[in-house]
Amino acid sequence: MRDVCIVGGGVAGLAAAIFTARAGLNTLVIDSGGRTPPRSLTQSGNGDGSTLERNASLENYPGFPDGVDARRYLDLTREQARTAGATIELGRVTSIEPKDETALEAGFVLETEGGKPLEARRVIAASWADSEYLVPLDVGRIQRGSKQFVSVDDAGRTAVDGIYAAGRLANEPHQAIVAAGHGAKVALAVIHDSDANFYHDWVAPEGYFTDRGREVPPGCEEISDDERRRRDEQARARLLEAFAEPLDERPTMHPSVAEE
Ligand SMILES: Cc1cc2nc3c(=O)[nH]c(=O)nc-3n(C[C@H](O)[C@H](O)[C@H](O)COP(=O)(O)OP(=O)(O)OC[C@H]3O[C@@H](n4cnc5c(N)ncnc54)[C@H](O)[C@@H]3O)c2cc1C
Repeated sequence: MRDVCIVGGGVAGLAAAIFTARAGLNTLVIDSGGRTPPRSLTQSGNGDGSTLERNASLENYPGFPDGVDARRYLDLTREQARTAGATIELGRVTSIEPKDETALEAGFVLETEGGKPLEARRVIAASWADSEYLVPLDVGRIQRGSKQFVSVDDAGRTAVDGIYAAGRLANEPHQAIVAAGHGAKVALAVIHDSDANFYHDWVAPEGYFTDRGREVPPGCEEISDDERRRRDEQARARLLEAFAEPLDERPTMHPSVAEE
């Protein structure tokens, strides 16, 4: 059984995965897929993909002074989640049930369209636009116009222990950086509830803690200056490679436009 299954590998789900995987939780992201063929997934999907795939130029995400192609951003974020240790699979979740109705701590079984059932101790729903699979659990959904949102507390916990919601689905504002931040915040609640030995997920220079007589806290790391330079070189090389060529992919159009 996985420690955490994240339904939806869009902005919020991938950010959550980076955090839970880096905290040592066995993390699976299941996403119904998007662009055809999805660039960094191996099977073909039948799904919608991140809303951000519809964006034409992402210009309000901090860290990209002249903006970034949204599909490139998603590819890199997916790669980062994998590097952190998360597994990403294609699949559409259709229902979730507790393994044992009387003991939610036993975890949940997730049914997927045409795939094998999955088991996870905790589930983060980050599947903006689809929360039908949560109906049997009675997590508390809010209808606004044609949209359904999931009710959560400040940390992203729903009314059902072990089920969380993140990003736009949790009624967060409709911007990528907000969804990413919320995904990370909800992941911290999952990490806390899992009793993982975790502090802040910081990488600090050598001596930052230890020269003050403190042990390096769990989840944190102290690195030498040589190691800092090595990581910077590796990161620069990867980004130069990633941005070397234009990405020849167009935004996904709104389904109602595409159908016309
Ligand atoms: C045209 C357009 C332009 C935009 N431009 C900007 C912009 O410039 N700046 C900005 O900040 N924001 C922009 N946004 C908003 C931004 O895309 C969203 O706020 C953000 O993507 C929400 O992130 P999320 O993770 O909550 O949902 P999403 O990124 O939509 O991810 C949801 C994921 O869940 C998956 N999924 C759904 N159902 C299931 C299921 N049953 N099983 C498995 N997986 C499932 C989907 O495939 C998808 O990958 C734009 C949106 C649109 C439509």
